[in-house]
Formats: sequence, C-alpha cells, structure tokens
Amino acid sequence: MHLYLHIPFCKQACHYCDFHFSTNLTAKSELVEAICREIELQKEYLPTRTLETVYFGGGTPSLLTDKELGQIFETIAKFYTVQSDAEITLEANPDDLTPQKLAELKPFVNRLSIGLQSFHEPYLRFMNRAHNAQESEKCVKLAQDAGFENLTIDLMYGMDEALLGIDSGTSASSEGLWQRDLEMAVALNTPHISAYNLTIEPQTALGNWLKKGKVKPIDDELSAKHLRQMMDFLEANRYEQYEISNFARNQQYARHNSSYWKRRPYLGVGPSAHSFDMNTRQYNIANNALYIKSLKNL
Ligand code: SF4
Repeated sequence: MHLYLHIPFCKQACHYCDFHFSTNLTAKSELVEAICREIELQKEYLPTRTLETVYFGGGTPSLLTDKELGQIFETIAKFYTVQSDAEITLEANPDDLTPQKLAELKPFVNRLSIGLQSFHEPYLRFMNRAHNAQESEKCVKLAQDAGFENLTIDLMYGMDEALLGIDSGTSASSEGLWQRDLEMAVALNTPHISAYNLTIEPQTALGNWLKKGKVKPIDDELSAKHLRQMMDFLEANRYEQYEISNFARNQQYARHNSSYWKRRPYLGVGPSAHSFDMNTRQYNIANNALYIKSLKNL
C-alpha cells in the first residue's frame, strides 16, 4: 500500500507553479498536527495497513524540521507497518540541502527527489526558483556524501530565452542550453531522472504574463525536439525511459509513482491530496486554513 503526504508550504512561489502551497509558514506546526490527525482518521482507508512506499510531496517537504518529520513518522508507526524495504521519498529543494539538513533527513527517508529544474542561472531567476545554478550542481554531491544513493532529480525542458523574454547575452541556442543541462545532470550520476515540459497554467504569474504578451506561448515543436534530444542522450547514457517523463538506470524505478501508473490503491493526506481505493477517487480541500479547521472538529 502507498501513502502520500502533501506538505503545502514553499519559501517563494515559482512563476510556473499551480500546485497547492502557501508561502506563509506560520501555520506549519498546526498543519503537521492536522496531517497526523488525518492519518489516524483514515487508518481504515486502504485494504491493508502495510506500507510499501511513503512519499512526501508538495509544496516543499524539505521545509519540515526533524521534529515535525519525527511527529509524522511516529503517527504513521501507530497505525501502519512500514515494510523494512519500503521506499520513503521526500521532495527537496536544492537550497534546503545543507550537510546539517541532510543529516537530519537521513534517519527518516531513503530517497530524495531534488527539484533542480536547470543549471542555467537566467532560467532559474526567470522561474523565481529559490536556488541558484551553483546550488543545482552542489546539492546532489552533498546528498551523496551524506549517504543518499537513491536520488532522483527533476529537470524542465521546452524553455527558450526568446520565448520567455529573457536576454542573458548567451550565444547558445535553446537546444545548446538543454544539452548542457542534460550533460550536467548525467554527470551527477543519479540513478533516476525526471523531466517535465514547461507548461503555462492560467492561474500563475507565467499565465498572467502570457495574457499580457510579456512571454510567448510554449513552442510545441521545440518541446518535441528537446524531448527527442533528451531521450537519445539519456538512452546513450544507460538511462531507460520507463514512463514518458521518467528515466532510470538499472531498473531503479520510482516505486511510489509507479503505483499510480499501475492503478494501485493509495491514501493521500494533507490539503489538496488525492486518494484512490480501487473504486473511487477522493481529494482534500486545497486550503490550509480550512483543512486545519475541519480536522480540529473531528
Ligand atoms: S517549490 Fe515546487 S511546489 Fe513550491 S512553488 Fe516552486 S514548483 Fe511549486
């Protein structure tokens, strides 16, 4: 069985993001309390209480303190048996991954999913990411030095300075910049890579800029070229494409995400989280204050 926990907080809003999150962190401990309450209330949701995977997504779960993570794991242990070989993933942003933070995470999780997105500084600034290109390069090595072997990194393609209205003065083409990102990603030697096409969602800063003509629409031809370029390059570097956006070496597939694609039951807790019990799908309210309030009354 599979458990997803949505941690709906971020340091700052990335301009393309339409996931549910808040940049106001004041309710973080109350929200952790509410998540623990929901884990208890939903203990009968899954057909069995043995967990093969636990996934902390968001938002930015690397904003949780070790105390908050400990509280969540204590609650999970009260109501579930976590298999000894369970995959326990936490999504992390590069700027959070200091040696001290990695040491705090180590007792709890055995897989990190790191949102690098790019090594090209002008893209990172444009997207309003909280990290810089140097941190993209450094964080994986820091995680490996801290003993994390099971790592996956997220990349983003379909970007082009001209489309996005960026003028960094680079002479490289968008394919050239993407090739550089791919080469730098492969050099990090992680067993797994995920890559997503930049999309412009209406309720985001990027969606607003599109309406105002500050950026041009995504060029599907260019995205298709980047996808082909990535498929060829990663295959030549021993990565198997086992899903449209996912590549793994030595069959080190993402077990949690694979469970969604295989239609396995999963419980999602936290605001905006979705669940599936093999018959129906449910989803939680995407509002932190209302989520906390509704669980206080139960
Ligand atoms: S860190 Fe992730 S969840 Fe938060 S705003 Fe950026 S892309 Fe969205």
